[in-house]
Amino acid sequence: MRIVLLGPQGAGKGTQAQRISRETGAKHISTGDLVRAEIKSGSELGQSIKDYNDRGDLVPDEIIIEMMKPYLDEADSWILDGFPRNESQAEALDKMLTEIDAELDAAVALEAPDELLVERLSGRRTSEATGNIYHVEYDPPPEDSEEDPGPFVQREDDTEESIRRRLEVYHEQTEPLKGYYADRDILAQVDATQGISEVTDDILESVEKSP
Ligand code: AMP
Repeated sequence: MRIVLLGPQGAGKGTQAQRISRETGAKHISTGDLVRAEIKSGSELGQSIKDYNDRGDLVPDEIIIEMMKPYLDEADSWILDGFPRNESQAEALDKMLTEIDAELDAAVALEAPDELLVERLSGRRTSEATGNIYHVEYDPPPEDSEEDPGPFVQREDDTEESIRRRLEVYHEQTEPLKGYYADRDILAQVDATQGISEVTDDILESVEKSP
């Protein structure tokens, strides 16, 4: 299984990718996680991409492609979360797939209105210990530290200004990719306003149905 998860920030790409990975064994490749890990490492590259991340702008294509490339042929089965984010990245992905003689099975777009996304993002918390994602109201972090010791932190780019910028970038640059994959008959659209397990079921069903 090789799938791309498209969708705006807050639609639940990370949460769903984690769940599908657990259920199917496919590797979860999140370019946002790679970016945050690089920044956290304090490397020169990390410092050079921190401003893009914090502002909610895209990191330059060449940097992001170099960062994620090694992970693509590491596993036969994967879910890409947060890549591609524009047409030139989609073309780069096609090229990388040709090089490893592989094909994309489906591009699944998670759909939700902006108002809901802002609400979800501002309440989002991530466990520093496990990387698990929670929401202060809808899916609060567990109180039992054996389940997840936390701490549960808010992302640097989950500020109101950055959230607005990221949604703008999504609509301008990433959303047109739905057309890119629809033209190849591998686009599936899933209603991401549903409950977490319903969304997972719909994604798995749409991947099974894909040609
Ligand atoms: P995410 O966790 O997917 O929301 O990504 C967080 C941030 O990492 C984005 O706002 C960008 O600054 C950067 N980033 C992640 N994936 C990409 C990508 N495919 N292209 C460019 N920048 C990216």
